Amino acid sequence: MRSRQQFSVFTEHLEHWFTRHKRSLPWRDLKMADDTQRAYLILVSEVMLQQTQVARVEVIFKRFLREFPSVDVLAKASNREVILAWQGMGYNSRALRLRDAAKKIVQEFHGVFPKKMEDLLAIKGIGAYTAAAIRNFAFDLPTPCLDTNIRRIIHRVFFGAEKRDGTWRMDDKALLKTATEVLEEGGETRHWHAALMDFGSLVCTKRSPKCNVCPLKKMCKAAFKVRSPLSALRLPLSREPGREIAGRFVPNRIIRGRIVEYLRRTPKRSTLADIGAHVCIDWDAKEHGGWLRGILEKLVSDSLIKEKRGRFVLG
Ligand code: SF4
Repeated sequence: MRSRQQFSVFTEHLEHWFTRHKRSLPWRDLKMADDTQRAYLILVSEVMLQQTQVARVEVIFKRFLREFPSVDVLAKASNREVILAWQGMGYNSRALRLRDAAKKIVQEFHGVFPKKMEDLLAIKGIGAYTAAAIRNFAFDLPTPCLDTNIRRIIHRVFFGAEKRDGTWRMDDKALLKTATEVLEEGGETRHWHAALMDFGSLVCTKRSPKCNVCPLKKMCKAAFKVRSPLSALRLPLSREPGREIAGRFVPNRIIRGRIVEYLRRTPKRSTLADIGAHVCIDWDAKEHGGWLRGILEKLVSDSLIKEKRGRFVLG
């Protein structure tokens, strides 16, 4: 049974830890007066942080903002311009989703970032976590949410360690309810969420939680009980689509990234054979042509590239 007293002890320990170890990303504690600009910076950074490491985001975030300093500027960008500015990030379709979200904010909300959860969720490309992050970090509106770090901490402390296969015993609904109750005991929502995220990446990490130095160890149900996930024991994994290239398995998603990267650097239109020769060292048109054509067609349907008379160029 979890009690309010437990929640406030949890909050106290975490806040104390945060005041000493704070390293949160600067844009999660913005002081600028313009609500829309704060929300825009949070949106860009949170979309970038999906599937890309913080160190890389910190560099590319600044470069992207020099190019697209506001939601209005981003809304006017072409596919080609945003894909070029996304260089180094991978998962290029995120750049188009971000531009489309900016377009919707300009066209349907007159360039003013909405604050209501339902309005934010109505914008394609903004999911529940990103909407909550915008509310918490840009508007200081308490909105419980679960990212991978928050889910892990709440589950371990109040419900125990994850299963050996890395899955959780409790579903997100139960965890979100607990996160809501804990948040009611917390201070400013943006500091509270930043504290949880930092704590999850520095102390209560996925594979090696530092239970011996953890301020929550006395109350945590998973303290010293987290075991190496089975995936770390080299069990066979189901493979994503891809193929062996020079003796190494390369997933199609890596080839997608290489194609976009090649077209970014190549102003002229390229044929399938040009692209094949640049993205795989064992290129053989007969053997690999069908496979590469499938990847190119998917990139065209995702609007990341364009095809004209059998030649390809950035979208
Ligand atoms: S005691 Fe260990 S498992 Fe529990 S919160 Fe601290 S680091 Fe995580």
